[in-house]
Amino acid sequence: MTAPESPAHAAMDQFAVRDGELVVGGLTVSALAAQLGQTPFYAYDSRLMRARVAALRAALPAGLRLHYAMKANPLPAVVRLFAGLVDGIDVASAGELQVALAAGALPAGISFAGPGKRDAELRAAVRAGVLVNVESPRELPLLAAASQALGLPARVAVRVNPDFELKGSGMKMGGGPKPFGVDAEAVPVLLARIGQLGLAFEGFHLYAGSQSLRADAIGQAQTLSFELALRLAEKAPSPVLSLNLGGGFGIPYFPGEQRLDLSPVAAVLAGLAERARQQLPQAALVLELGRYLVGEAGVYVARVIDRKVSRGEVFLVVDGGLHHQLSASGNFGQVLRRNHPVAIANRMDDKGREVASVVGPLCTPLDLLADRMPLAVAQEGDLVVVFQSGAYGASASPQAFLGHPACVEVLV
Ligand SMILES: *Cc1c(COP(=O)(O)O)cnc(C)c1O
Repeated sequence: MTAPESPAHAAMDQFAVRDGELVVGGLTVSALAAQLGQTPFYAYDSRLMRARVAALRAALPAGLRLHYAMKANPLPAVVRLFAGLVDGIDVASAGELQVALAAGALPAGISFAGPGKRDAELRAAVRAGVLVNVESPRELPLLAAASQALGLPARVAVRVNPDFELKGSGMKMGGGPKPFGVDAEAVPVLLARIGQLGLAFEGFHLYAGSQSLRADAIGQAQTLSFELALRLAEKAPSPVLSLNLGGGFGIPYFPGEQRLDLSPVAAVLAGLAERARQQLPQAALVLELGRYLVGEAGVYVARVIDRKVSRGEVFLVVDGGLHHQLSASGNFGQVLRRNHPVAIANRMDDKGREVASVVGPLCTPLDLLADRMPLAVAQEGDLVVVFQSGAYGASASPQAFLGHPACVEVLV
């Protein structure tokens, strides 16, 4: 079997290679495995995360606030790193709120979004003094009651379900009928209610979609979001202090995909920042990013337990799989299964290739990390790496499924 000429995945050049081995956070993957005393594991490179934030700060207009949406990677060490790097943490449950507060994030910069917030979660948010992105009229009287009972202001922004979506995004979270946010046309009534209840109105939150690599589509969604917020601001009970324009910046996974070109997005945002100075003079513009900040900095590493040949096809059976890395198996919202970037981490310099499938130990055909992919020729004991694993990995996978050990995660 010979490998096809076309690349098996998008270019993965963020990690160095030393003595034929991938280096993450200054250590080779086999040194990491030895230190952790086990495979499989996730390793996150803190230097790459810092570099990503620095590159964004350099490109984006000064004064634009950068938030980390921690559902992408809620590991406390990662949240602690971002609490010290960005201007706010976006949480989507009371559980995440606890992690963010324990990580040292300042309540002033924390915002809480998500449908179906329970009464106790709304109370926890008011008690902590964080901003609640209201997603339903149901939340208003509960927030007012919590505010009264605790003697604390209830800080609110309205999450708007816009009348447009983010084109070319992996997951659409706005536009059309959606469980997220309040339909734009229903927002004026909600704003009046916020005023009547005496809640502390701070602004708007718009989130059109996720995992977009198209700078033009992101810029267009941001412009439409800004203009919608401008129209809604006329109906607000007090000036807009914060306008969260969402994010949706994607990372490349598949052959032919390129990293997002930040400069056109930065140009659009610079224009919007200038308009905001004129038209919403008290408002800070906010971007909330998850995957883009952490995804490329993380790897998932599993060891080859068995090399099997079945009717001429090679199967590398590894000690990790979909129970830790659901997304790479193609079962986390993907419509068509495509291989995530995978390599043999201790044979990065090997020139020979064979077509092999990487499968996990679970007794289901879904447990597939690479489907007939050109890879270095691997043996038992070798280490398989899944790149682009820093976001929606361990916490987004069914670790209890089939009773295998949990993976470990390390920030290096
Ligand atoms: C999931 C989510 C994010 C993060 O999305 P990414 O694609 O990881 O950047 C940001 N904001 C909201 C409201 C979300 O639901």
